[in-house]
Amino acid sequence: MKARRAVIALSLLAVTLFLLFPFFGGGISTNTDFNTSVLSQAVITAVIVISLNLVMGVTGLLTLVQTGMLSVGGYALGYVALRHEVNPLYIIPISMIAAAFLSWILILISGRAMDLYFGLITLAFSLALVTIAQQWTPVTGGFIGMNNIPTPHVNGERMPKVAVYAIFLAILIVVFIVQRNLMLSPRGRAMEAVRISPATAQSLSISPRKIRTFAFVFGGAIAGLGGAMYAINLRSISPAAGGLSSSLVLFIALFLGGLGTVIGPLIGVMLLTITQVAIRGQGPYQDLILGLLLLLSMFTIPLGVVGSWNKSRFAIPRKLPELAHEIHADGILLEKQKINESNRGNVVLESDAVSRNFGGVNAVSDVNFKLTAGQVHGIIGPNGAGKSTLVNCLTGFDTPNSGNVLLRGKKMPADPIAFATSGVARVFQIPHVLDNLSVIDNVLVGIDSRKPTSWLAALIRLPKFRKAEAKKRNEALRLLSEAGIADLAAKPASICSHGQKRLLEIVRAVATHPDILILDEPATGLTGTELTMLSTLISNLRGTGVAVLLIEHNVDFVFQLSDQITVLHLGKVLISAAPAEVRASKAVQDAYLVGGR
Ligand code: ADP
Ligand code: MG
Repeated sequence: MKARRAVIALSLLAVTLFLLFPFFGGGISTNTDFNTSVLSQAVITAVIVISLNLVMGVTGLLTLVQTGMLSVGGYALGYVALRHEVNPLYIIPISMIAAAFLSWILILISGRAMDLYFGLITLAFSLALVTIAQQWTPVTGGFIGMNNIPTPHVNGERMPKVAVYAIFLAILIVVFIVQRNLMLSPRGRAMEAVRISPATAQSLSISPRKIRTFAFVFGGAIAGLGGAMYAINLRSISPAAGGLSSSLVLFIALFLGGLGTVIGPLIGVMLLTITQVAIRGQGPYQDLILGLLLLLSMFTIPLGVVGSWNKSRFAIPRKLPELAHEIHADGILLEKQKINESNRGNVVLESDAVSRNFGGVNAVSDVNFKLTAGQVHGIIGPNGAGKSTLVNCLTGFDTPNSGNVLLRGKKMPADPIAFATSGVARVFQIPHVLDNLSVIDNVLVGIDSRKPTSWLAALIRLPKFRKAEAKKRNEALRLLSEAGIADLAAKPASICSHGQKRLLEIVRAVATHPDILILDEPATGLTGTELTMLSTLISNLRGTGVAVLLIEHNVDFVFQLSDQITVLHLGKVLISAAPAEVRASKAVQDAYLVGGR
């Protein structure tokens, strides 16, 4: 462990020394001015790469407009600085607002477009921005752009280049800390959830649309900040700044350093800058060499330097809190949840003559189904009987062709977030864990849904915020230990076995403190011990007044746990009654229990 920390300390020292060259002279070149301009450029690139990291690496929005937003910031600064006698440094906020506003417009008009389509829209927007910069001559200066932007000054005296560089460095440090704090906050976890699985995010009350808008506008503001620094540094801005070729270096730096990692952008920009300086004599071959570098890094370290390091055996796991108290053997998972006695026995979720067909196949036809608080309601039926489709309709993930879904007597729209925020938690038939997040972070996303924190508090990590965060981690760890998977807490969820992923997903659903829990074949792939855990958990939940809907193939499991069982067959309800009655039913035996499987 000591050796690993030493490696990290040494690399931090390397980055620091690298960034401090301009103050010493020497270094890359004996020409201090050269050092300063190379490193100023590197610092600006790092700011923009951080914005690209937040938008693309963390939130998963393919964007080609980050250099476009850079030029928006640059032009905004130039426009104001050339017309008014103000210190250009004070104009920086205007650049940020301008770029954030245009980002907001872009994401608004892009509507539901995702992935490649979104990427193409950003590309088109980027090209449009360059054209506007070229053609709107009275404002932008046309092809020549804006020149002679004043240098920042103090008391009427121009600041020396090194001083401006020092300010840039301070800005980069702030931007870096903001990025780090955001990524470690509930908002950051939501951004990752949206990237990894929008459906999971929705089932946990996270709105992918809102999170994407936030990330894109926030990233736009940071790119605008980079653009302002760019214009101050070069004292000019021209249409070329927003061109696509300047995007290339951003992507190289981000992939080289590690997409979606905290320090990847810094490491990537450092490696890029060193390479650029090393090949600066190569003239026309520079882009080729950079392209080859990108290819080489993708083949050898596809996750980038930092991503690969984190996956390697040298990685330092994050420290976990000590468990506050002994774990009860029987696992009382919901000790904090209030028992809602008045509710018990009420119908909380129902489908009223719901039908759903797919291309002529009646997956669900005319189903009336009622779920009661404080009961476990099993649904059985052969494969293709329509169980998952019914559950999708009951949770807003699918829209019935006819019929209504009522939650506590109120008609619901087909909107998964509306269900999730009203206390409906669901687990999918195929485990939907957030693979790239750690096991404990998966549970935290569940807890976040009922304990919202302001993202501004998260950015500065106020003591109150850190305390709340520590409490959440403790609670998450306790939930995990009661499901028997606490030892995995710090590991990435991707390494879990199928059964562990199932349990993790259920723990995450329980962590939202739902009134209604919907489990689609949760017992599939569980070992004997895990099955016992699961059945204890379900009984405990029922004890606290939660309504549990349990779709299950394991007949013994479902018959032993359920208060009521509904049998679906070819999309229709065959029978809905107490387990004993269902077991005795001739129709069920014919259709399912004996011959149907
Ligand atoms: P179960 O969960 O009981 O196994 P499903 O609800 O998954 O059954 O499926 C019921 C029927 O609906 C099947 O015939 C299935 O092929 C069809 N179906 C389910 N989802 C879709 C979909 N998204 N598109 C087309 N057909 C579907
Ligand atoms: Mg199914």
